[in-house]
Parts: sequence; structure tokens; C-alpha cells
Amino acid sequence: MKKRTSLVLMGIILSGSVPAQAQTAGAPPDAVRKYVAVSDPRVALRHVRVIDGTGAPPAEDQALLIADGRIASVGPDRDARIPKGVKILNLEGRTVIPGLVMMHEHLVYPTDRSADAGRMYPSHALTFPRLYLAAGVTTMRTAGTAEPVTDLNLKHEIESDKAVGPDIDVTSSWMDGNPPIILQETPIRDAAEARRQVQFWSAEGVTSFKVYMYLTREPMAALIDEAHRLGHKVAGHLCAVTAREAAELGIDSLEHGLVVFTDFVPGKKVGECPDPEALDKVTAGLDVGSAPVRDLIRELVARHVAVDSTLAVFETDAKRRPPLPQGTLDTLTPEAQVSYLRRRARIADDPDETGTILLAKEMQFEREFAEMGGQLLAGTDPTGYGGVIAGFGNWRELRLLNEAGFSAVEVIRIATLNGARFLGREDRIGSIAPGKQADLVVIRGNPVVKMTDMENVELVFRRGVGYDSAKLVASARGLVGSR
Ligand SMILES: [Zn+2]
Repeated sequence: MKKRTSLVLMGIILSGSVPAQAQTAGAPPDAVRKYVAVSDPRVALRHVRVIDGTGAPPAEDQALLIADGRIASVGPDRDARIPKGVKILNLEGRTVIPGLVMMHEHLVYPTDRSADAGRMYPSHALTFPRLYLAAGVTTMRTAGTAEPVTDLNLKHEIESDKAVGPDIDVTSSWMDGNPPIILQETPIRDAAEARRQVQFWSAEGVTSFKVYMYLTREPMAALIDEAHRLGHKVAGHLCAVTAREAAELGIDSLEHGLVVFTDFVPGKKVGECPDPEALDKVTAGLDVGSAPVRDLIRELVARHVAVDSTLAVFETDAKRRPPLPQGTLDTLTPEAQVSYLRRRARIADDPDETGTILLAKEMQFEREFAEMGGQLLAGTDPTGYGGVIAGFGNWRELRLLNEAGFSAVEVIRIATLNGARFLGREDRIGSIAPGKQADLVVIRGNPVVKMTDMENVELVFRRGVGYDSAKLVASARGLVGSR
């Protein structure tokens, strides 16, 4: 696809945009520059606690040197030799972790508040990339989208410093059965169409694929085969096809985990997606430590199928959970706030405990899966009824993994190095080591002592450029639910 460089759209010159040729070569435009707090090519982060993303315990009082977008060195501050001309940031009391590599992100958000809610997911390509970066996300996979073209254009803009956001692994549209259940997804009628879609979007720049609930075994097999042939991975939110069947077909990651697996539904017919309420009942009654569940986990581990945790979105259907904090609510439009609060109140008043039980079951499953050697990834999935917001939702996901029984250091590894390994980019990103890309998050406090300190993000370095987290959040105020 050709990149759109023209600022003239349908005869209207977009106001506030600076023509590319008017900018100094190499310098970012105002739209990016206003969020940059540190742009010196060489920076020393002194007296910091480092949690390196590998699962190693925190190292106290370190000095970390950034040079030309990479980590030049990291080690005890007392041994550091800081060359002249290096910008020094004294960061006592702060923790530095690798930039988050989050695997189930979206650049869309459910804004349709009518009876048809859920059928439309308008793009939030304006606010979400900023909120993701503000929270410390430096790499994200979109894991399905309503607007692949928007996402691809945004990816290119971020890469060429025309927009602010994380590096994006752009996933395809939701590839589903026919007819589509969401108006913006792609219905796949047969295996030949699955291959054609993969070929087309791969050529356009899509680097991963998403299969959705109603896609059946034969077209899914073709889609996975074609994607692998072209060097791409496939993520699945399954239903008609079970987790075991998809694993046999070679799927790379199972999104959401146990809560959406249909493997344990009695009498499930091949290729049929069971009624969602029936599925929830079965899963809520499941013994996660039982032989059939452990057997499935063994199968997934043996076939190197990753599970992508999205606890934050399940939390919104559970009761007695904390509401969105005021700072998060403030990013929503008034209409979106009301809609979220109403739905949340309805769930609180409903005597049904299924959502609450499912969150606990999912937590237990993810812990078992990781303990048995499974590759657990972290994502947020800002969909549901609008209670998960880009960026803030990432913090929530980390907090919930901690609640599920993973230590802070383990949670950070899941949300950094595990994702990088899955994407095959662990030589460049995912941990703090000399030579790696300087994707770093500076946090006030210590998440090992208090997990919620993860939310005190001050600075986020992406490729060595430090962005001001608070300014990025402020720029989205009142806009989520609109754009
Ligand atoms: Zn999703």
C-alpha cells in the first residue's frame, strides 16, 4: 500500500498540520515534539533500581547509559564512568523496567451505545497510541482490528516520527466465519479465500493474523498454513474450533485463555460455536486442576502454543472489583463514562456470580499453564463494554497477573521478554541489556514492594527518546469514546 503523504483530503487542507517539506529534515513535527521530555542522543539514568525483564531480581543503585537509541551499558552506579557531554538524570527512588511488549491490544474501542452495541468498533488511532506509550508500552500487537489500513498508516507514521506511539505489530482484521458477527470483520467462506486474504494483507504490510470465533477448521487450517508460509504468526479467539484442534493446526497463540475454550463443553459438535451462556456455565464449573485441563495444557506446551492473558477485560464482568480510577474515567467522553458506569452498576446488582467465578478460574488456569512450562503473554483487550482503556488497562492487566500469583518480577517478564520472544525480537527488545533498543520505562517507586507503583510512570523511552507520560495522558482527556 502506498503511504499517504498528502495533507489534502477531499479538497480540504487539514488545519494544524505542517507540510512535511516545511519541517527540518530529521526533526520530529510539533505533534511529536511536544511530548518529548528527553531527546539528547546520550543519556545516563543514575541511581536507579533495574528490573531487567529476564526474571532476575531487582538490582539496586544502577547506572544505565543510553547512546543513539540503544542501551550502551548498565551496572552499579559507583562503577559508572559517565563520559562528558552525556545528559544526566538523577533518578533516585525510581525503578527502570524494559518497555512493555503487549500482545492483545487494539486501536479500536466500543463506542456504540445502542442496542447494536458490539457490532461496531470505531478506530481510536488518535488517543490509544498515546495512552499505550504513556503506560510504558513500547511494542504492541493489535491482535485483530476493524481498520487494518488505519493501523498500517499509523504504524508508518510512528516509525517515521510523525506520530507518537509504540512499535506496532499490525494484525489483520478479525477473520471470521460467514456471515460476520461484527460489521467490520472479514467473513471467510472457504480455504481458498483464507489464503487469498493472507496473501493480500501480508503484501500490504500486516505481520500477524487473527482468527475469530466462528471460523471453522478447514479455512482456519489454510489460513494458518498460508500465514506460516509467509513468515507470520496466527492468534486465535476460538469458539467453533477447540483449543486442542487449533493447536493441532499449528496456531501460535490462544487469546484470552480457558474462559473461551470450548474443549470441555459436553456434546460440542465439530465446527459449532456453543451458546456463550452455556459455555460460561461449563467453564465456571470446571476443576482447573483436573486431569482433562492438565492434559490440554500439556498438549499446548508440547506444541509451543502461547496463551495470551487478558484478565483486565474479564475483570469488568466480575463483581466487587475496583471501578476505573478517576484519572482513567477522565479520559472518556461524558457519554462513554455514563455508559460504562451504568453497565458496571447493572453487573454489581445482578445476583449472577458467573463473571466473578470465571475471573478466578482464568487466573488459576494461567498460573497452572505457566507452572507447566507454558509461554504466557500479556494483553489488555480494550473491548468488552468499554471498561478497559488503552494504557490504564495495561497496568490493570499487570496488577491482575500479580493477584493471580505471579511475583512482580515474573509479571514484568511476562509483559516484556515473553512478548519479545513470541515476536522473535528478543535480540532487540524485551529486556535491559547492552546493545538492545533503549525501550525503557521509568517508574516512581518499586513495584516489587507495591505492584501499583507500576502506575507511577514518569518517562517512557522508545528507541532512546524519552516521552513525558503525564503529557501523553493529558492529551487524551475526554476523547476516549470519540477518537
Ligand atoms: Zn480482542
